[in-house]
Amino acid sequence: MTNRNNPFLLANGKKPTCMEMLQLILDGEANHEQHEYFRSHMDQCMPCFKTYSLDMTIKELLKEKCCKDTVPAELIEQIKLQISQNTPS
Ligand SMILES: [Zn+2]
Repeated sequence: MTNRNNPFLLANGKKPTCMEMLQLILDGEANHEQHEYFRSHMDQCMPCFKTYSLDMTIKELLKEKCCKDTVPAELIEQIKLQISQNTPS
């Protein structure tokens, strides 16, 4: 069975954008089904994969560097820049 329904489908039947899916996932608001779906979506969607791994990398780095909830925006920008420079577009 490869014909899976999109668990992100909105109530009005509208297909969610990559950004909308990413937001749910990154906010931790996605359910198990949505996580599964998104994982296979990332295999075919480079922008989603990049954004997702970028976010995960930042979260990991921040966990190591400090335990505070408030993180300077500068630091995040720095990390983003570093990572985007390492990824060919
Ligand atoms: Zn996508």
